[in-house]
Amino acid sequence: MEVFDKWLSAELKPFKRDFDQIKVTKQRCLGCSSKLITWILDFDPQFTYPDWELGKCNDCGKLNLIQIENARSFQPKTFTLIKSFKRSEFSKEAVLNELLKLEKK
Ligand SMILES: [Zn+2]
Repeated sequence: MEVFDKWLSAELKPFKRDFDQIKVTKQRCLGCSSKLITWILDFDPQFTYPDWELGKCNDCGKLNLIQIENARSFQPKTFTLIKSFKRSEFSKEAVLNELLKLEKK
């Protein structure tokens, strides 16, 4: 993964102007307080992301509800996406219940 990140940042250098325009969202991991970083590749304030996303912290493995609001496309940087739930079918509370169930496994 580290190698991949190095490769990616090297690849991105020629496009630094674009890179600077990528929005980054950060939230604290509930397990270890690391920053969970998401690159918002396509931000659109008119758009509401249709799913809840559960991400697993790359540092401690804790599941977190990832905050993705107005992104049409994004890339997780310090966590791994585990599962998504449709906002139309799951309330936030229901997703948090699912998260607890997954953690017990
Ligand atoms: Zn963590």
